Amino acid sequence: MSVDVLVVGLGPAGSRAAAAAANGGCSVLAIDRRARAGVPVQCAEFVPALLQQEVPGLAAACVQPIRRMLTAIEGGPFEETPDFPGRMLDRARFDALLAARAVSAGASCRFGVATTRITRDGAVSLTDGTPIRPRVLIGADGPRSRVGAAIGAVNTALVEARQIRVPLRRPHDATDIFLSAAYPGGYGWLFPARNEANLGIGVVPAARPALKGLLEALHAALTAAGRVGPEVLGLTGGLIPVGGRIRASGRLGSVSVLLVGDAAGLAHPVSGAGIAAAVQSGTLAGEAAASLLAGQPSAAADYEDELASLFDGTFARALSRRHDLLACHTSGRPPDPARQRAGWIGFASYWEDGATPAATTPSIAAPHAAGEKVHELS
Ligand SMILES: Cc1cc2nc3c(=O)[nH]c(=O)nc-3n(C[C@H](O)[C@H](O)[C@H](O)COP(=O)(O)OP(=O)(O)OC[C@H]3O[C@@H](n4cnc5c(N)ncnc54)[C@H](O)[C@@H]3O)c2cc1C
Repeated sequence: MSVDVLVVGLGPAGSRAAAAAANGGCSVLAIDRRARAGVPVQCAEFVPALLQQEVPGLAAACVQPIRRMLTAIEGGPFEETPDFPGRMLDRARFDALLAARAVSAGASCRFGVATTRITRDGAVSLTDGTPIRPRVLIGADGPRSRVGAAIGAVNTALVEARQIRVPLRRPHDATDIFLSAAYPGGYGWLFPARNEANLGIGVVPAARPALKGLLEALHAALTAAGRVGPEVLGLTGGLIPVGGRIRASGRLGSVSVLLVGDAAGLAHPVSGAGIAAAVQSGTLAGEAAASLLAGQPSAAADYEDELASLFDGTFARALSRRHDLLACHTSGRPPDPARQRAGWIGFASYWEDGATPAATTPSIAAPHAAGEKVHELS
């Protein structure tokens, strides 16, 4: 079977890429190994308010508004960062909404189908037995992308996350963040979703054996404080790429390959947020695929340039902050609260050195100065 564009993965990045390529006149097949879009949810489900500019009709997938952030360092009192607006999503509904839009744009979307083999000349075998020969292959298959591996573009720095769904005792309008040396390379979170909440912790892979116990202890502490109930309503987790942008284009024989979202390392290295970047990179890659097929060979390089201009300024600072915070948390010495503050987006000192170039394109992914924190919170 030959198609113009094969999209592997129907998360936010893949659905947006499929829709954009189909809107650009390409024949598009998009596949996902999951039986249903977005299920099971592997996400804390917070997005910045600005995402609604990029995704019209987003309200249909929103659960509640978020207005501020509260950060506790080493179990101390919460410090408030006001004016960090966002939305809590129903992620399964959000992913289903974007997949439905890809179908409306003309893409053929198949769930319950995975890639089994990608050859050096770009032929792709699927679990349903179909061999596919695309002209453009888009890897939207997450942090451990097989498509990325086929072109040698692999996320190396990852965070392991574990999250439970718990009852929330009182309505809440903030994302709560828990910074601690006990959570090296990551942090804990409590994100409200009406009368429930996502409670999770992310850490570097080396600390994974402690993750279950750490989350149980955080849950017990919040239960004792009367914030959440003791019941565990659901359990999820997953990997988050935190090493920054990797090469997002390549070739397999005559097939052009583009990577999007987590497959391209586009989650924020400090906050782990990747939904907005997935949406944005997916659209750009779908448009680039259409341009490639319309005979513009520079479209792949242009796509890389666009990603660089959107993300590199934000990610450079985040990578440097992440490095410092990880060093602080793994030094063996008592953590220094000033260094912890400088390592987290909710504090002024995170933003203080101006060492990174400001992005010039106002957007969700790299908004200009006034809105920048909104994205980075996400
Ligand atoms: C626990 C956790 C909490 C998070 N919380 C937030 C948050 O609150 N806010 C935020 O912005 N970001 C959050 N993130 C990050 C966010 O979920 C990702 O950045 C985002 O989902 C990236 O979208 P994507 O489309 O690139 O990848 P994904 O959403 O991972 O989609 C990839 C898709 O590819 C499919 N796939 C993989 N391999 C194959 C294959 N071989 N064949 C076919 N299909 C395949 C998968 O089934 C999946 O549906 C969180 C991540 C985790 C793990």
